[in-house]
Amino acid sequence: MLQGQPELVIPSTFRAGRGTASRDSAKLTEYASVLCGLPMMLLKNPFLGLMKRLRFANKFLLVTACFALPMFFTSASLLIELWQRIEAIQQQQNAALQMVEMSNMAQEMENLRDLKLLEFLLLDSGYLSKVKAQRNIINTRLNAFSDHFNLTPFQSTLLASLKQETGEDTVSPGMEAIPMKLAFENAHRSLEALYELQSSVLVQSGLLSGQRQDIFGIVNLANEELQAITKRIAEVRISGAFYLRVGYVDASGVELLDQQYRDLEQTISALRSVLANLSVTYPEFSDLLVVEHFIEPLLLVKNALDTDLMQAMTLTQKSTEFEVFQKNNIDAVYELQRHLFERVLAHLQQVLESQLIYFGGVIAGLTLLLCVFMLMFLAFYRSVNSALKSLRLFASEVAQGRYETSVDLNTQDELNELAVAMEQMRSQLKTREDKLYALSTTDALTGVYNRQYFDQAVSKEIERARRQATTVALLFLDADHFKQINDTLGHLAGDAVLSELGNVLKGSIYRATDMVARYGGEEFAILLPNTNLKGAVTFAERIRETIEKHSILFEDEIITITVSIGVAAIRPDRDTLVRDLIAQADEAVYQAKMTGRNRCCTLTQTSTTLEVKESAP
Ligand code: GH3
Ligand code: MG
Ligand code: MG
Repeated sequence: MLQGQPELVIPSTFRAGRGTASRDSAKLTEYASVLCGLPMMLLKNPFLGLMKRLRFANKFLLVTACFALPMFFTSASLLIELWQRIEAIQQQQNAALQMVEMSNMAQEMENLRDLKLLEFLLLDSGYLSKVKAQRNIINTRLNAFSDHFNLTPFQSTLLASLKQETGEDTVSPGMEAIPMKLAFENAHRSLEALYELQSSVLVQSGLLSGQRQDIFGIVNLANEELQAITKRIAEVRISGAFYLRVGYVDASGVELLDQQYRDLEQTISALRSVLANLSVTYPEFSDLLVVEHFIEPLLLVKNALDTDLMQAMTLTQKSTEFEVFQKNNIDAVYELQRHLFERVLAHLQQVLESQLIYFGGVIAGLTLLLCVFMLMFLAFYRSVNSALKSLRLFASEVAQGRYETSVDLNTQDELNELAVAMEQMRSQLKTREDKLYALSTTDALTGVYNRQYFDQAVSKEIERARRQATTVALLFLDADHFKQINDTLGHLAGDAVLSELGNVLKGSIYRATDMVARYGGEEFAILLPNTNLKGAVTFAERIRETIEKHSILFEDEIITITVSIGVAAIRPDRDTLVRDLIAQADEAVYQAKMTGRNRCCTLTQTSTTLEVKESAP
């Protein structure tokens, strides 16, 4: 270490090794996540509870409001801010217009000041009529100005005092002895009231408060810089006209003219640097900030001052000509001032237009956003709502056992997954219910319909036959000597025979409307809708034959069996009862048994007796 060099003190945090730093940052991340996570954990349950209590419409509204309200207020404040900006620009445009008019007034007031001063200095009453005419011009302009523009109370007061100042003679007789410079300053006072009004208008509109960085320098140039220049020229105008008129320059005059010459040179060089700076800051105004335009009048004034007064051996130049020449220079500066304000106006117009386009764009964008937001919200809500409605309807249909209805949400979301699951549930329920129904209507041993089903079916068929005026036939079939099979071969053999009988009977019917049921024990019933007695007997005989020829193998034992069949058929009328048909079939089977078994019997009921018809092998 060099002698005297202070030791470098490293803060402890920086001295720590790399490992410590990464551990610290990991800890920090952990703390941060705990800090962020804590409010989430605390708030999660209340929000979840709230959401659980609300219907979907209200959930949607709540969530939407959380986004829509801040968006609405942000948009509203943005629009208000934009509109205020537009209003500010319009106010600035108005101020620039006032400046153009006040530039005209200032030009006239300068002329009045100079005329009054010359009248006073030269004690020349010839100026009186000129002064009067000039006052009239100014008063007309002042009145027009106050009528045309809205002024603040302060500005109105300034304008009123300006009117008063214009009416008064600022250089009163009796002050002849005062030096010319002081007399000029006195006369200049009324113009300064106008300058104050100008500044007030500019500051109030924001044109001179730094709000308008884009034209602040130009406005300042047009206002203060050019005011100073006209003042310089006016001083030369007065003193030059005076000395040329009196024909000599006294010692104090020489000093005054010399001072004015130096002031002019200084003003020119100051103006050059101001313009150079401005043309860098405001390149879009560079066509206007041409140095020659600004210093030309000043150069002319300086040359005239030099040649006509300072260098002249004798003052030959006419006073009035000199005075008019300088007035023209002053007018040129005012012309330039108005030109600058007109450019400021044009610039503000451009800014205003771009702001209006931006404003319109923002409104269009926000409206579009709002429309999209509302459409999305509606579409979202409706898609959920209609899906829930379809699912609710579907569930209620299934609950009522109407399994034909299906649900198709035509969406690709989670609700559609729910719909698919519910569809599966429906088909599985239907399968199970069909199975249960089949179980509840089928006889387990024989596989044909059970008695319960038969009872319902026979009632229905009789009712149908009554309506359609057709016949319905019923076969009662009883296994012959079945008990013997049980007794000799066992109940299992009997069961096997019954089961096989069921198969044979099921295989014997062809019409979908025909139906076989186990009536009880070893008795079967076959219902044949729309079948007359003849057709039923033929059918019964075919069955009887089939069974007779059928052999049943049970544990190496071949079993054959015969059946007795009672056949009945009726064309039901209003008074026909189910039991009438059953009784007929029952009686017929009894007859078949009585007459030798293994046969088919029919029976027709006459008034008192039953006629039995048999068919036997
Ligand atoms: P018939 O020719 O007069 O009709 O004589 P049968 O022996 O067939 O008539 P019976 O009424 O005397 O006997 C019927 C028998 O059928 C009695 C009963 O044990 C038997 N049975 C009834 N249901 C079943 C069953 O489910 N399985 C078995 N194995 N036997 C049954
Ligand atoms: Mg029996
Ligand atoms: Mg029997």
